[in-house]
Parts: sequence; C-alpha cells; structure tokens
Amino acid sequence: MAYKFVDNYRERGARKKLVEHLKGRGIEDQKVLEAIGKVPRHFFFDETFWNQAYRDIAFPIGDGQTISQPYTVAYQSELLHVKKGDKVLEIGTGSGYQTCILLELGAEVYTIERQESLYQRTIQVLPYMGYKAKFFLGDGSKGIAEHAPYDKIIVTAGAPFVPEIMLKQLKVGGIFVIPVGDEKSQKMVTIIRVGENDFDRIELDTFRFVPLVGDQAW
Ligand code: SAM
Repeated sequence: MAYKFVDNYRERGARKKLVEHLKGRGIEDQKVLEAIGKVPRHFFFDETFWNQAYRDIAFPIGDGQTISQPYTVAYQSELLHVKKGDKVLEIGTGSGYQTCILLELGAEVYTIERQESLYQRTIQVLPYMGYKAKFFLGDGSKGIAEHAPYDKIIVTAGAPFVPEIMLKQLKVGGIFVIPVGDEKSQKMVTIIRVGENDFDRIELDTFRFVPLVGDQAW
C-alpha cells in the first residue's frame, strides 16, 4: 500500500504551534498536549492538503464524514482523564486520529465505525503508523457489549440522547463523554458512573458534530 508518511521539519513545527494554540484555548492536560504534539495529523490527509492538517479545523475525510477539529479531540480527551491501561471504547473511528491520541495516552482502545470504507482505511493505516487498536465495523450506538465493561467511553458523533445501553457498559467509577443535542448543535455531556445505578451528569460547552446514526441514535 502506497501511503506517503513523511514527518518533516515543516509538519513538526506546525504541530508545535498547534499545541501552543490549544494551550491558549484552555487545554491544560499536559499528557493530552503531548499526545497532540506526537501524532502526525497530516498522515490522515491527502498530501495536497497537508497545509491544512495543523489548522484548528475539522476536515472532510470522505463519505460525508470529517476528522474532528484538534480542539474538540483535545477537549474530549481531557474530559476522559485517561490513565495508562484504561480500557476505552470509542464510537466513530472516522479517520482514526482520536484513536491514536487515546493510544498515546496509554489506553487499550476498542473503536467502532459504521462506514466500511473508513473502517477499511483505518485497519491498514493505523497499524502501518505503529498504532494498535481493536477495530470493529458496525453500529456503535449500542456500544460493544461483548467486550464490556469499559473504564471510559467516548462518542465522537452527535447523539440525540444518551444511549442507556452504553451506560450499562461502563465500569463503576468510569467516565462517559458524549455530545448530545439536535442536528445543528450539541452540548458535551460527561457522565460518571458513581454506583451500580447512580450516574452524575454534567453538561459543558456547545459543539457541532456529524450525526451518530444507528439503532440508539438518529
Ligand atoms: N474521531 C474521529 C476522528 O478523529 O477522525 C472523527 C469522527 S467523525 C466526527 C464521526 C464518525 O462517527 C464518522 O466517521 C461516522 O461515520 C461515525 N459514526 C456515526 N454513527 C456511528 C455509529 N452508530 N457507529 C459507529 N460509527 C458511527
């Protein structure tokens, strides 16, 4: 497979600037900033668009989907408080960029994507880059019950509601991060499972994600 993976001076410099920019926007978690500083985001872009890779913007990755904006990736990653060895479920693999950030944070990542072309690309590109996750193809709006429970769950598409079925797949003490709202805007919601049937919910800033489509979604 002919991928062009060159991480040269120009891209490394742009990545450093992106980290400074994210600090300026309020991202404080040093490990998250280090991960952003390590993962070559331009590898997820066609070479023609490498000059866009370190701008703080979402970008089309085909099939009507986007690689999330770096700020959004950093924001969600910070909320997850990933510890080394955490078992993390990611819904919406997309380009695989967020997956790489979670792996850099030391997580064991289970990631699911519903679009086959994106799934096929990530199962080749990520291992080629040296990133090892467990990849799944299918409807992640139901989580992945077979591999539950998880320490953390992150949803990277906008949901109309919090899928109950996913809450059950979270360990007690676990953290769930999901954008919830309508098609136009979503509030970032963090849910902590404080007891078997006890959940603390916090609503944070507003974002705009592509929709979570599936059985427990749009
Ligand atoms: N985290 C990704 C990245 O870094 O590139 C960005 C993901 S993109 C904003 C959201 C992804 O969620 C899309 O690739 C979309 O196909 C996927 N998606 C939407 N509904 C889904 C579902 N029910 N199960 C799995 N993936 C889904």
